[in-house]
Amino acid sequence: MTREELLPLLQQRVLAPDAAPLSAAMAAGLRALNITKDPVLNDTLSALAAAQSAGEIRVLAARALRLLAAASHAAQPEAPAPRKADRKARDKARLERGQARALKEHRAQPGRPALRPVETLNGVGEALGQALRARGVRTASDLAWLLPLGYVDERKITPLDQLVVGQRQLTVGTVVSARPFGGGHNGRMAEVWLAPEAHAAGVLRLTWFRAPPGLLARFVPGMRYQVAGTVESFRGQNQITHPETQRLGPNDEAAPRGIVPRYPTIAGVPPRRLASFIQRALASALPDIDEAVPPALREAYELTPLRAALGALHAPPADMSDDELVRWNEARSEHHARLAFEEFFVLELALFRRRVEDQGILAEPMIAAAPPLERVRRALGFELTEAQRRVSAEIFADLAKDTPMRRLLQGDVGSGKTAVGMLAAAHVVAAGAQVAFMAPTEILAEQHYRSVAPIAAALGLRAALVLGGERASHRKKTRKALEDGALDLVVGTHALLSEGVRFARLRLVIIDEQHRFGVGQRLRLVDKTERALAPHLLVMTATPIPRTLALALHGDLEVSVIDELPAGRVPPVTRAYPFSERERALVQVERALVAGGQAYVVCPSIEESEETGLAAVEKTFSELSKRFAAYGVALLHGRLKAEEKSAAMERFVRGEARVLVATTIVEVGVDVPRANVMLIENAERFGLSQLHQLRGRVGRGGQRSACLLVHQAVSQESRTRLEALCETADGFRIAEADLQLRGPGELFGHRQSGLPGFRFGDLRRDAPLLAKAREAAQQVIARDPELQLPEHAPARAVLERSNEGPRRIVREEAG
Ligand code: ADP
Ligand code: MG
Repeated sequence: MTREELLPLLQQRVLAPDAAPLSAAMAAGLRALNITKDPVLNDTLSALAAAQSAGEIRVLAARALRLLAAASHAAQPEAPAPRKADRKARDKARLERGQARALKEHRAQPGRPALRPVETLNGVGEALGQALRARGVRTASDLAWLLPLGYVDERKITPLDQLVVGQRQLTVGTVVSARPFGGGHNGRMAEVWLAPEAHAAGVLRLTWFRAPPGLLARFVPGMRYQVAGTVESFRGQNQITHPETQRLGPNDEAAPRGIVPRYPTIAGVPPRRLASFIQRALASALPDIDEAVPPALREAYELTPLRAALGALHAPPADMSDDELVRWNEARSEHHARLAFEEFFVLELALFRRRVEDQGILAEPMIAAAPPLERVRRALGFELTEAQRRVSAEIFADLAKDTPMRRLLQGDVGSGKTAVGMLAAAHVVAAGAQVAFMAPTEILAEQHYRSVAPIAAALGLRAALVLGGERASHRKKTRKALEDGALDLVVGTHALLSEGVRFARLRLVIIDEQHRFGVGQRLRLVDKTERALAPHLLVMTATPIPRTLALALHGDLEVSVIDELPAGRVPPVTRAYPFSERERALVQVERALVAGGQAYVVCPSIEESEETGLAAVEKTFSELSKRFAAYGVALLHGRLKAEEKSAAMERFVRGEARVLVATTIVEVGVDVPRANVMLIENAERFGLSQLHQLRGRVGRGGQRSACLLVHQAVSQESRTRLEALCETADGFRIAEADLQLRGPGELFGHRQSGLPGFRFGDLRRDAPLLAKAREAAQQVIARDPELQLPEHAPARAVLERSNEGPRRIVREEAG
């Protein structure tokens, strides 16, 4: 039997396990098959040949398919990857759809400068327009919303002999020499030396590794230049790499540039051009930007116009004090607060709108003839905790109603939320309906499938995994099975609901690790489903949300809490190691490996510079893959292809790689019971709740485990935070500590708290603002539930567009 013959056979088994029992010959054929050297695949095939029950056949066939796909990818790395091409085509189609919409909107309202497509702006053109659109920047308004990441102080000229290493500065000097160096790299490396005056010794080296043609000719000894950039120390000399330069005439005064906004990088758009496009867009579009907060409320709440705040953030006043500059750089200016208000207001408006829409919407009561509680318990292989029992009862009570369940299940890392989700799923399937189980990432979805499949099999549920990029034929079949009701349970990412997948009878949607989705996304997820008869909704999160915030963020949800861990858990021993003692931490890892354990090594992903983050994880990988070669080392980060990610994860799960070097992609939900060491590099860069989540990945198998925090913390705050983590294993206490302990200057702030991501709002700081925004939104909805009054038209438009374009960029980067 060849691989080509095997594939359809397996697919058939997944889709219709009982329709076509295996013939004896086929079974023998399967057993004899040795398609790969992969023992797990071969075992799976043998088990499949021997399988009796439909559930078993389905699960084994699905597993074999997945393993086969992974093996074939591993075996033929050069083969063109159809999935990637598929994805590219899909992305392109999506972009084009978005663009078509923008153009249509523009044609419909030609008088609105804010809606002008970017490529029609002066100087943008097709190619740059394409690059902007690729990042979701489609209109003039999107450009206006593309706010600076920070501000650089270029108000004063620092004399050449007073430069401070490590800081960005503006200085002036006279060229004393200019020459190529290095010779390698097609001769494009260049260095220029500047001195305070002609004929003096050079004191600042300007270095280009990729010098544009003709660069050196522009630096003639004796000429004066104004240069800007971050000063480094290279072999004891001051140096600026790839500086910004500007020639000064003999009588020109150096010209300070004020406070200069620093914009996000958009691939394919030179930074200076981006800045000028933004200025151009502001000039025409700013007065036309939609403000969600209506004028009357703006007055009542003493808010400046949104447009003024947006404009100010693009044009920082040159006379701000140093303190003020710090505040602007930490997104704590009054203008940022104004944008935060707008952001909260839109969210609250969406939540209230959801309530209005939900009124009168019916759900189908899920009443199982024989509640499968006992069977699930047996399939799980452990006794449920008291808390798991309690929350399950709450869920069953909701499911029995004819109004849709809207419930948030909150429980610390490792408290067993998946089991509760499976109980609910089994209940709904027993009542004759379908369940969708969704996770924020493909890795997590696969992980869930891995833990769900055996339980589903033991219960006779027909389950399948749907990710974004399966082969078209496979996707088609799964979709058909969902449409026909031939599948009971589908596990996937949110792509599941966004790509027009139809269900025969979808009655329960479970969303795991909800904080990764964001509240707005959650609202949209349910929108995609059939609204006449809404599915019940269960969202699960490990993030403990302080009571004050719970209402504002999840005011549309009931809350259940799992407040105990399964018996016999041994919390990981947590220890902090200053970087100088990293070796000791590595020795710990080695000891665990010698004793048969497995280890995660997590490196931070650095959101402003993906390249740096990538370099860090790759460097650690290359170091450790030498040192721990005997144990097998796998690498996992967001830039890998989906199949490379799952192959890496698979190797770790099977124990072929006993060390997994990864970015925070492993943060949520990954469950490898044998893993017993978690080493975190640069732990000072993580938020406490995030560290707690990471730590929750080990110690799941009941054995002793350790969490090693290697850090370069300099401030007392950072050290206190890490100590708090060493001292307690209680997620709620950690979340509180996290709220209290945000050290000033620790910019990495809100993305790491584990709280839902906002672009401007910081929930730990802005809780009162959120409350105000909620109150304001409530007033709007009370007066005009459908947002039909003319003064609410902009709010309506903002709601409709609220998750497109640059407003989304930051959140995507965070993922
Ligand atoms: P989380 O709440 O973090 O999603 P999981 O559902 O992944 O937690 O459960 C963590 C681990 O605990 C899993 O390996 C699961 O099988 C196990 N587990 C869950 N509930 C219990 C229980 N009542 N008794 C023993 N082990 C349990
Ligand atoms: Mg989980």
